[in-house]
Amino acid sequence: MTPSKPIPTPSEDSKPFWEATRNGELRLQRCLDCSSYRFPPGVLCPECSSTSSEWVPVSGRGRVHSFVVFHRAYHPAFANDLPYAVACVELEEGPRLLSNIVGVETARIRCDMAVEVLFEKINEEISLPKFRPRA
Ligand SMILES: [Zn+2]
Repeated sequence: MTPSKPIPTPSEDSKPFWEATRNGELRLQRCLDCSSYRFPPGVLCPECSSTSSEWVPVSGRGRVHSFVVFHRAYHPAFANDLPYAVACVELEEGPRLLSNIVGVETARIRCDMAVEVLFEKINEEISLPKFRPRA
């Protein structure tokens, strides 16, 4: 039997993020006082310490800030995915997310490559945001 991959457990702070991805939408927290976007979710704005925020849809577009390609499975559930890329994607709105780059040979991935989000449904609750090259 193939072991299953670890999946995120939504917290009180991240629940709106996972609700959005489940609906095929990328949302980030934005400060109601200074308008800066933030990720990961949290109570305080890292720019101005305000506790007022809202969840807003974002473009889903960004660039590969950095990445690594895994050629070895450090968890047995990822063995069939090798080689796979884990990237730090910088969104147009500013925040950076860790995710996978899919839909392209790993040898073709470059820093600063333009990417866009897509969603991989894992189960009824969790859909993971992943990124693919943007035309
Ligand atoms: Zn703020």
